[in-house]
Amino acid sequence: MKTAKSKALFKKASALMPGGVNSPVRAFRAVGGNPLFISRAKGSRIFDADGNSYIDYVLSWGPMIAGHAHPKVVAALKKAVENGTSYGAPTALEIRLAEMVIKAYPSIEKIRMVNSGTEATMSAIRAARGFTGRDKIIKFEGGYHGHGDGLLVKAGSGAATFGVPDSPGVPKSYAKNTVTLPYNDPKALKAIIEKQWKDLAAVVIEPVAGNIGCVLPRPGFLETVRRLTKKYGIVLIFDEVMTGFRVSYGGAQAHFGIKPDLTCLGKVIGGGLPVGAFGGKKEIMSMISPEGPIYQAGTLSGNPLAMTAGIATLDIISAPKVYAKLLDRAAELESALRDAALRAGATVKFYRAGTMFCTYFTDKEVVDYASAKTADTVKFGRFFRGLLERGVNIAPSQFEAGFISTAHTSADITKTARAAFESFRSI
Ligand SMILES: *Cc1c(COP(=O)(O)O)cnc(C)c1O
Repeated sequence: MKTAKSKALFKKASALMPGGVNSPVRAFRAVGGNPLFISRAKGSRIFDADGNSYIDYVLSWGPMIAGHAHPKVVAALKKAVENGTSYGAPTALEIRLAEMVIKAYPSIEKIRMVNSGTEATMSAIRAARGFTGRDKIIKFEGGYHGHGDGLLVKAGSGAATFGVPDSPGVPKSYAKNTVTLPYNDPKALKAIIEKQWKDLAAVVIEPVAGNIGCVLPRPGFLETVRRLTKKYGIVLIFDEVMTGFRVSYGGAQAHFGIKPDLTCLGKVIGGGLPVGAFGGKKEIMSMISPEGPIYQAGTLSGNPLAMTAGIATLDIISAPKVYAKLLDRAAELESALRDAALRAGATVKFYRAGTMFCTYFTDKEVVDYASAKTADTVKFGRFFRGLLERGVNIAPSQFEAGFISTAHTSADITKTARAAFESFRSI
């Protein structure tokens, strides 16, 4: 594996950007070494600056569900770009994407497009606060909801990877409005809600906790969250930025049969361009400006290129049989990885929710942040490196999910399983 070009680029980038990257999870800090600089991607593969190719299970951290540079997405974008790249005015494209999302997420009666998942969660929380007239929110330990102030309290993703779940720079006066609880612990939730409900605007939750790997809700947990929030007039926000169109086409809410008050989306609905969205009950969304007094805005929101990529992507994965086949392929990957670990005698726990998954190097069941932290990150680092050297790309952290796309083939999975077996053996 040649890495000279990536190394040289990283040296240059490190002088220009903090850690040499524009988002911390991209650095290889947790696993050692320097990140690969990517020059192009196609289907299930990405190619680095040195010409190495990898089967990609990062998929830009989730969005590329139809694979990289899908011909239909590329063609739609080429056509769209000729018509101008931004107008700052309404378009029919926004209506089309809104209709597609609302059809798949009936809990969303009205929606607003934004430019990132971070914006979506910030705005949804503002809406919940404005609607209830209350200030506090509950989030769960290891839950990542973007990098907004007040959400970087016991946060997952890079914050967990680098051991800074509580970021400096967030005023204490702000963080005190965030109550954090262990995931999958209905008793703790009940106790806090019964005591503090008069101050609680919202419960924000990743219905599958994907920013500490892939932690599934225990049977009944989401039902309890729904029941208690409804009873005490607290807005239930499902942060489906990752799980949306990933756990199922209708997200975690369709899969588990729970109807939140507000939903945050991002990643897949932008098809690889910068998009987020939040939406839900009419009575809450109607309070957003200019229909109501809660202010929220964006120069590039509903950008025509981003809408085009989102529409094309959802068109691809909503075509007959496509999503069912994707789920079959994800199941195939699961059994191949489980089998590889078993044959290699590796002690791991594997979890999957639809098209997202995680292999934890632990013998404990992973049900929350504390149990996720029992994973052996040194072993994970060796596994990661083993895979990379064998042409398979996963996230450079134990606390991230993997993703599969419609472009991944059975041959890709066979190759991945072989690489995984050898990597398990070598740790
Ligand atoms: C990725 C993610 C976000 C943040 O989205 P950005 O587009 O990176 O700002 C928020 N919530 C969840 C659950 C995510 O996975």
